[in-house]
Amino acid sequence: MLELRPHHLLCTQGYSGKGYNEEFVENMNEVVDKLRNVPGFRVKIVCDSDNLCIHCPNMLGPNLCATQDKVAGFDRKTMEVFGIEEKEYVYSEIVEHIRSVATEEKMSYICSECSWYPISACRRNILNK
Ligand code: SF4
Repeated sequence: MLELRPHHLLCTQGYSGKGYNEEFVENMNEVVDKLRNVPGFRVKIVCDSDNLCIHCPNMLGPNLCATQDKVAGFDRKTMEVFGIEEKEYVYSEIVEHIRSVATEEKMSYICSECSWYPISACRRNILNK
């Protein structure tokens, strides 16, 4: 099991090998491989720095991202839109739930301020387009 902040449930669905630096990408590769390929793999949702943040150059300290207000907003909206709580989930099950209720409007509401949103595969993968 590993810890994920709520909006990383969305980022991990679109990840395709690009990130902030080499360390970030190496860790992201390992994490995403487990999430996508280990049956029943569990994640603990935390509104805090998570297993991706700790290898990110934007993490300035415990629960402090260089774009803190922005990422806190992504987290809050992800929880609100998909009914996600700070607890454990089977990754494949929560992803299935997200994909079953996601719409273009919901994705745009959560993610329009993200610089990755126009270029990442997240939107396409989540909306199955
Ligand atoms: S530190 Fe900020 S930019 Fe880096 S992974 Fe965490 S939330 Fe994303």
